[in-house]
Amino acid sequence: MDNAKKTPVARCTRCGATNTDSIYINMRCQRTLAGKRCSGTLENAIDPSNWELCAQCKGSGIDESTKCASCRGDGWIYCRNT
Ligand SMILES: [Zn+2]
Ligand SMILES: [Zn+2]
Repeated sequence: MDNAKKTPVARCTRCGATNTDSIYINMRCQRTLAGKRCSGTLENAIDPSNWELCAQCKGSGIDESTKCASCRGDGWIYCRNT
């Protein structure tokens, strides 16, 4: 996993967008969906146990030179057990 991406630390409660910078935790999601800003909040997902390296792209976020569909280019899959 030499080219694996950084593990995300925040995840949107609404659209599932991820962020690897902890300054965005508890801030409003930056993603725009169909012209409207997402109303979700980036929740704290800083615990590495929340994330599983994507088996499809081995964490690179790229699958056969396009954005990996399994992890949406993040390289990581959210897997928090509640
Ligand atoms: Zn969002
Ligand atoms: Zn992937």
